[in-house]
Amino acid sequence: MQKQMTVALIAHDNKKHEMIQWALTNKKALSRFKLCGTGTTAKLVADATELEVKRYLSGPLGGDQQIGAKVAEGKIDMVIFFWDPLQMQPHDPDVKALLRIAALYDVPIATNKRTADYLIGAVAKNRE
Ligand code: PGA
Repeated sequence: MQKQMTVALIAHDNKKHEMIQWALTNKKALSRFKLCGTGTTAKLVADATELEVKRYLSGPLGGDQQIGAKVAEGKIDMVIFFWDPLQMQPHDPDVKALLRIAALYDVPIATNKRTADYLIGAVAKNRE
């Protein structure tokens, strides 16, 4: 039996609507995973989909760093991170750190919707 994958969900404020829509569209696939996310994103996705989503701190309060630590520990298998390319974030160093740590540990990380579609589709197909 394959281990249940853990997927982290993060969306900056201007991308939260897109994340909720994406999660609703992919609810069936997401229901097979353990989900977690930064505080607000996790709550919004959980409320919209009725899936269980473990909440870390809000991104600007350290949530990206918590998720980065879990990636480094090998406890997160995939990250869906809709960051905002048009707005500077107060926690930009944390955002960069998470992108770096995902690259370092070779953890798949989708930073836009189409990549997330490809990734979730590939994983779902692989697990059929
Ligand atoms: P949030 O954090 O889900 O708590 O809004 C996301 C972020 O800004 O990194």
